[in-house]
Amino acid sequence: MSVHAGDAQAGDQAYMRLALEQAERARAQGEVPVGAVLVRAGKVLAVGHNQPVQSCDPSAHAEILVLRAAARQRNSYRIDGGTLYVTLEPCAMCCGALLHARLDRVVFAAADPKTGAAGSVLNLFDYPQLNHRTQVQGGVLAAEASQLLRDFFAERRTAHKSVHQPLRDDALRTPEACFADLPDYGFAPNYCSDVPALDGLRMHYVDVGPSAAQPCVVCLHGDADWSYTYRHLIARWQRAGLRVLAPDLIGFGRSDKPKRAALHTLDWHRQALHAWIERLDLQRVLLVGQGWGAEIACGLPALAAQRYVGMLLLNGAPDAGPHLRAADPASGRAGALQKTRESLAAMLQHAFPELQPRELAAYLAPFPDAGHCAALGAWSAQAIEASTGPQALGAEQSAAQVPLVQGAGKTVLLAGARAPQGLRARMQSWAQQTRLGAELHLVADAGMWLSEQAASRVDQVLMGLV
Ligand SMILES: [Zn+2]
Repeated sequence: MSVHAGDAQAGDQAYMRLALEQAERARAQGEVPVGAVLVRAGKVLAVGHNQPVQSCDPSAHAEILVLRAAARQRNSYRIDGGTLYVTLEPCAMCCGALLHARLDRVVFAAADPKTGAAGSVLNLFDYPQLNHRTQVQGGVLAAEASQLLRDFFAERRTAHKSVHQPLRDDALRTPEACFADLPDYGFAPNYCSDVPALDGLRMHYVDVGPSAAQPCVVCLHGDADWSYTYRHLIARWQRAGLRVLAPDLIGFGRSDKPKRAALHTLDWHRQALHAWIERLDLQRVLLVGQGWGAEIACGLPALAAQRYVGMLLLNGAPDAGPHLRAADPASGRAGALQKTRESLAAMLQHAFPELQPRELAAYLAPFPDAGHCAALGAWSAQAIEASTGPQALGAEQSAAQVPLVQGAGKTVLLAGARAPQGLRARMQSWAQQTRLGAELHLVADAGMWLSEQAASRVDQVLMGLV
């Protein structure tokens, strides 16, 4: 049976698509996106992708890995009659190995002008002393492969710039050492600073799970904690296959901390988060907000309704701020925070006595001294609400709240049975006012920290929204 030139070309493209899928896997693992496929007699013997970083092995190029796998399978280091497809022109090391394997053909996609050894920098296949018969062909699906590499390096440059964002003169950054060995918080840090709304400040966020998973969950903390409070829920939802993101609001956690308290307005934080969500292009977002984080969450769907599919509000609702600030001995909430590490420690211990000493230390980690505590003081002041704006939250006008809740999708509110009475009442009246089926549930035996005290219940409700 004769093979037409057109069939051969289609076959090359089909195998190169397999190699591109492998390259995508490398990219998802933070490796330079190069993939390879080894084919012999119409059969795929091995597929593989670059993994020198994760395997701490400079020779773990895609080509080497598929050669090893195929040779083991054939029980021979020679793979006569084989064709290797790779998304990037092989380097000198890989060309050498390909020659040793006595392949028939090597087909690559994008040329590599920096290290390519199959024609770009040199051509090892072109030395009659070294090579008897391996044919080389470049350019198959080159555009796709090049785009993948360009995107990868552009992302990496952006990430690098964000990590190395210089600190603004009027801000502080909690030393990295403060975050070493926090219990159950081993998430790799991610930073965003390249959106104008952040005004040169660096915002930290946790981002775990498959980047393409939808919906994705965005968790917003309140005025006395940071993303640490969601550590157990983040791990649970990651195990369930969800993508979970948890930013530290500016002034909290691993994010930059402006010295000026006046920067902290609800609207400023909402705009910063909105810009961050746009920058990451998050789709089908499920918002989870606790305390003041719920209040901030409520204004986000109004800024980009198409991005949101649901909201889960934990001990919070629009205009619940005064109830969060009020002292409430029954709930353990000591009222307005002073701007010191000591007052935060006292409040946390009082509100949540079950916290282990190491966990309490982790809650305090971002706030090593008074200078880092400006945000705590700011959130205890009345001024934080001045920015809310009638159209953003529409306290008493339920008409203004309709688009807000519609934009958010399905909304569930959870209130701790031991949360302040005024807060529960406010949540109830808001849920009724919206008249759009926002459900309110009381959680027995829980106070203000539902993320800690009622993680199973929060998990259960969220999975119902997914
Ligand atoms: Zn190589």
